[in-house]
Amino acid sequence: MSRRTIPSTGALLASSPLREAVAVHGRAAVRSAIHAAQEAAREGRLSSAEVPEAAMAVLGRHAARPVLNATGVLIHTNLGRAPLSAAARAALSAAAGWTDVEFDLATGRRAVRGRGALAALCEAVPDAGAAHVVNNNAAALLLCALALAPGREIVISRGEMVEIGDGFRIPDLLTAGGARLREVGTTNRTTARDYTAAIGPDTGFVLKVHPSNFRVEGFTSAASVAELAGCGVPVVVDIGSGLLAPDPRLPDEPDATTALRCGAALVTASADKLLGGPQGGLLLGDRDLVTALRRHPAARALRAGKLVLAALEATLRGPESPVAVMLSADTASLECRAHALASAVGGAEVVATTSVVGGGAAPGVRLSSFAVALPERFAAALRAERVVGRVEGGRCLLDLRTVDPADDDALARAVLAAGAPPCR
Ligand SMILES: *Cc1c(COP(=O)(O)O)cnc(C)c1O
Repeated sequence: MSRRTIPSTGALLASSPLREAVAVHGRAAVRSAIHAAQEAAREGRLSSAEVPEAAMAVLGRHAARPVLNATGVLIHTNLGRAPLSAAARAALSAAAGWTDVEFDLATGRRAVRGRGALAALCEAVPDAGAAHVVNNNAAALLLCALALAPGREIVISRGEMVEIGDGFRIPDLLTAGGARLREVGTTNRTTARDYTAAIGPDTGFVLKVHPSNFRVEGFTSAASVAELAGCGVPVVVDIGSGLLAPDPRLPDEPDATTALRCGAALVTASADKLLGGPQGGLLLGDRDLVTALRRHPAARALRAGKLVLAALEATLRGPESPVAVMLSADTASLECRAHALASAVGGAEVVATTSVVGGGAAPGVRLSSFAVALPERFAAALRAERVVGRVEGGRCLLDLRTVDPADDDALARAVLAAGAPPCR
């Protein structure tokens, strides 16, 4: 295309809608979007008339690219774990400006930070005397080590020395906080007596870690929280995935209420796994211990931001989280949606498959589901359309359990954009 017909940067900056976009995105971002669109026009990929719209499209690309999760992994760590509910998204947006996060509108004075989220947690877990929220569960464990066992021992079973993921290990995290580990028992079996024999004046606390991302089967035994509760030192229980009360769909998954009723002094958990909220670390339990944690100097370095606190409160008070909805989606409706998707893309095979909870939670749970099976080459082409499927047995499966039904049409469009209608 001849350079002369391509609108100039100045003319584009002065025209609607790019003029208005400057207030939203900043002049530098709008200029570089314009340059990208002009370049595309020079290369003949666009007509001159399409330049303003193309520049707006460049601006519409967000810093974090939203993706459709068709992997069938409900809590996909690499895709950001739990998707937030509409209520939590609205709360995030409302909290983006000034909020009363640490301010009492009635008195005009400073108030407890995130008290709405803390109150919602205490209502959801009445057995907890108090609650505190930090950046993630790792931060919750680190704060326990710093505040409750500085230079002292944390008694932990050899069967619970867990690597969380990406090379991060809970034992290393605890010793990084200046505590020593007192390992007890064996990989497969640890008794209450192993713990009590190790507890002494140097003990800061006993830590029970839920082996959330693996299973040990066969000749195994572990001491229960109830057995350890009377041992004279606080028992801290890392339940991992953040179930606040028992869930009949996940019978093997520990929950905060049960752990506290069994005598745990403190429970730690992630907010963005089964709880279905934003990234956060929950600390629930004994009021004095929670106060000690909150007052520790490092608490300031680990504290949750106002956006997280707002989204967490909305998750706790709002409707069922998307994670809960995906967990209970019924198989017949998934099959129905898979057939609708298959025909919308011009005919593809529908297969029965199994989804998993993922995110280091409920490793034994298999959820029956339905998927559309495409040739494997679709996996890469779909990623270019921001759809992530699961490659299995030489095929690319799109598992409907992790797709919001509201996104079914977008999913079909992405498949059509990714390639010719597959095998009939
Ligand atoms: C996931 C998990 C963690 C780490 O939690 P983050 O919120 O990712 O820091 C720690 N312990 C257990 C048992 C877990 O399952």
